[in-house]
Amino acid sequence: MRVVELIRRKRDSGELSRQEILELIAAYTRGEIPDYQMSAWLMAVVLRGMTHAEISALTEAMLHSGEVLDLSDLPGRKVDKHSTGGVGDKTSLVIAPLAAAGGILVPMISGRGLGHTGGTLDKLESIPGFNVNLSLAEFRRVLDTCGCAMIGQTAEIAPADRKIYALRDVTGTVESQALICASIMSKKLAEGIDALVLDVKTGSGAFLKNIEEAADLAKLMVETGQRMGKEVVALLTDMNQPLGRMAGNAMEVAEAVEVLSGGGPADVRELCLHLASWMFYLGRRVKSLDEGKQFAVGLIASGQARQKFREIVRLQGGDEAVIDDPGLLPHARQTLGVASASDGYVAGIDCEQLGWASVILGAGRERKEDAIDPAVGLEFHKRAGDAVRRGELLCTLHYNQAARVEQARRLVERAYRIEPQKPAFLPPLVQRVIGTPTELS
Ligand code: URA
Repeated sequence: MRVVELIRRKRDSGELSRQEILELIAAYTRGEIPDYQMSAWLMAVVLRGMTHAEISALTEAMLHSGEVLDLSDLPGRKVDKHSTGGVGDKTSLVIAPLAAAGGILVPMISGRGLGHTGGTLDKLESIPGFNVNLSLAEFRRVLDTCGCAMIGQTAEIAPADRKIYALRDVTGTVESQALICASIMSKKLAEGIDALVLDVKTGSGAFLKNIEEAADLAKLMVETGQRMGKEVVALLTDMNQPLGRMAGNAMEVAEAVEVLSGGGPADVRELCLHLASWMFYLGRRVKSLDEGKQFAVGLIASGQARQKFREIVRLQGGDEAVIDDPGLLPHARQTLGVASASDGYVAGIDCEQLGWASVILGAGRERKEDAIDPAVGLEFHKRAGDAVRRGELLCTLHYNQAARVEQARRLVERAYRIEPQKPAFLPPLVQRVIGTPTELS
């Protein structure tokens, strides 16, 4: 295989064979292809796209770069959830313990921050001691003990995604239906699940901003999962503004704990209840989505979901005291408010720019080797459609490095569009469901 030839062919809109894709991914995973060649190939894919046959081959190659778990010895339905990436999206931290508290087995393999979006692993690691790098044997033990374990791609499971994901994060090669589909589905198909709920984001803070492109990605992933014998449903959800009031690793953990405790922002709670009701439905714990929602509400109200999160944190080495006292999570030393320059209404938010502002503060990576600052992030005071007075705060930046704050402040300031009129239309949180099982359609 000549890697240069594969890069050139994709650059010129050509098609790669299944065998070529399998060899390319296997060789990169073994460390035989340098990052610069892989980055060039990924960029060619972003710009030229892939055929369905190529996407299937890429997903297969990434899935089989490591082990595919067989969890059939663990009794019960195994169901997971994955998001295509958003700003302030902490739903996995709520849903995984919530579903496990309701009797679903949740073997969750997540990612780190990607581009302008946050990642579940970075959020979990803001809990002192939390270990996302469990061995396979430990992963099984935690899963068997408490019904949920949350880890990252490892040398054993989806190692190709582990390497390619880190490279895409810092080379502007995230925004591709093909790469997102293969990345997500290779991890999820390796987990040994029976069913999967996908949260496909659309809007200004999503990788695929246009709803039809997001819907195509959702269909692609649903079909990929179904071909492999999994039940898969995708919810197209709004990402035209951040989810909840916080974006930033420790800040999001604190907000997730609020939701697990029965409070928290209405949008985070609503989305978590939607996603959880699908997990309970596909997990055969309930007969309808309404029943699933009531079940989820009850598990939060009784404290069982929060107790489950405590158990997961303890079993994965984290300090469970943060659940009673989120003040123990890392805190930024300084804050800076961004206020509205005029009276009016929040008519639009460039959510991606808010994500980049958070990355600049240190909540994400600009280079592969960068360390995350778990404490920093953004706190949002206004949502789309809210009235605002001149001088009233739109957002507060929580930061540790003064040298970074001005650049982030400028992005935040420009991200809010204030107009005299209240916007006539605000998109609903859940816009469409794709892959509905026939009983519910
Ligand atoms: N989540 C993933 O795991 N991979 C992507 O490419 C995007 C979101």
